[in-house]
Amino acid sequence: MTIVLDGKKIAEEIQRELHEEMKDWKKCGKRLPKLAVIIVGDHTASQVYVNNKENAAKYIGFHSIVKEFPKDITEEKLLCEIDKLNQDSTVDGILVQLPLPLHMDEERVLVSIGPEKDVDGFHPLNMGHLLVGHPEKLPCTPYGIMTLLDRYQIDLEGKHAVIVGRSNIVGKPMSQLLLHQNATVTVTHSKTKNLKEITQQADILIVAIGQCEMITADFVKDGAVVVDVGMNRNSEGKLVGDVAYDDVFPKASFITPVPGGVGPMTITMLMEQTINNARIGDR
Ligand code: NDP
Repeated sequence: MTIVLDGKKIAEEIQRELHEEMKDWKKCGKRLPKLAVIIVGDHTASQVYVNNKENAAKYIGFHSIVKEFPKDITEEKLLCEIDKLNQDSTVDGILVQLPLPLHMDEERVLVSIGPEKDVDGFHPLNMGHLLVGHPEKLPCTPYGIMTLLDRYQIDLEGKHAVIVGRSNIVGKPMSQLLLHQNATVTVTHSKTKNLKEITQQADILIVAIGQCEMITADFVKDGAVVVDVGMNRNSEGKLVGDVAYDDVFPKASFITPVPGGVGPMTITMLMEQTINNARIGDR
């Protein structure tokens, strides 16, 4: 029998727990956390992601501010705005919604966020902490996947985990987190030869490639745990993952749906890390 890894349900559970915690903070007059989200330009998908984040913060019960800038804002001006937020002691987390307009150096902008306020976990310093095995802030998608696997009590020790995709925000940090849990990890990418032969060996298969339903049943070992990070629009405009869900479902022991799998967990981990920063700051 295949079990659906219901990210929406688990995310709601965690958000409820955080909501209860915020109610207690309010009761004792403790300063509530604040998340600042920066959005540049009018990218429709980005607007949707930012709204989802704002709604989650509102539900949990802490402050969130959205700073919107026109797409022709200069990089220097944006860096100056980020610096103001870095200096603001009431702001616990800063997030710059990607993608940024082409005239901007994305890396330079991300590095300008104070590492202690980097709730997205993309700052090279935080990546470095993760690499040496002492994570401080985690990239939210891999963190969300680990939390989901943990809540379903999926044992990772000694398992062969295959990751398809090596991006800085998903594939690479995912490999480190799985390694810390004693999985044996293989990372694959677009230049990997015989991809199917490798994915067929996976006990845990994590797919983050941005290719509509590319991973079909023949890529998957019987009984594998399949996590689909992909969020793509197919030719009919429908939101689909990187995994052909209906095809793979009967072969998997556990599988995430799209939507309702990894996506809600990512947002929830962002909230969790913002609150955690406020916990640390007020210690
Ligand atoms: P990137 O485009 O940054 O990276 C894609 C990776 O997939 C690259 O490493 C690339 O290889 C690899 N790849 C692409 N095509 C193939 C292929 N045919 N075979 C093997 N490997 C391939 O994407 P992201 O990591 O940012 O995102 C991946 C997907 O996850 C997207 O659909 C995105 O929308 C989604 N996403 C979802 C999130 C969520 O919360 N649910 C959060 C973040 C992303 P190479 O390095 O060789 O180019």
